[in-house]
Amino acid sequence: PPVNEEMASPQEERTFIAIKPDGVQRGLVGEIIKRFEQRGFKLIALKMVTASQDHLKVHYQDLKDKPFFPSLVEYMASGPIVAMVWQGLEAVKQGRIMLGATNPLASNPGTIRGDFSIQTGRNICHGSDAVDSAEREIAHWFKPEEVSGWKRTVDSWIYE
Ligand code: UDP
Ligand code: MG
Repeated sequence: PPVNEEMASPQEERTFIAIKPDGVQRGLVGEIIKRFEQRGFKLIALKMVTASQDHLKVHYQDLKDKPFFPSLVEYMASGPIVAMVWQGLEAVKQGRIMLGATNPLASNPGTIRGDFSIQTGRNICHGSDAVDSAEREIAHWFKPEEVSGWKRTVDSWIYE
């Protein structure tokens, strides 16, 4: 994947967003995609996948010493996930704002977690926390050819 310095423009920042098994089970796939689409972010990769525990242990490698790590991996492997890459200006930071706080009880109404979830261990969605972790996660979940650099004709109505 391109590293940050090689990116042509700040409007090409990418983030990895996933709808977790509870979000899929609860029928929130369309709702979550809708919010990113309506905001003006561009969907450049999407797939449904039931991840292995080994795959998830790498995804969440930074949390491996946390007490909740085994239950987190089990929850995330319990059913299909919708994995996505969204692109746009400040996609990583804005994605985190749109998701809300890790603990849904601390998430503002209007955020995805604040509108649709209650507990941290069932917080329905994932979003990368930094540009470098986003690039690592995108490379972990998608082959380069699964990410599409399609030209979007409405871009001049979203960016000045
Ligand atoms: N998590 C949990 N208990 C905790 C903290 C986190 O079950 O005390 C889960 C939760 O699903 C969270 C995920 O582990 O989304 C990853 O934790 P992180 O701190 O990276 O939060 P996030 O980046 O998802 O907001
Ligand atoms: Mg995190």
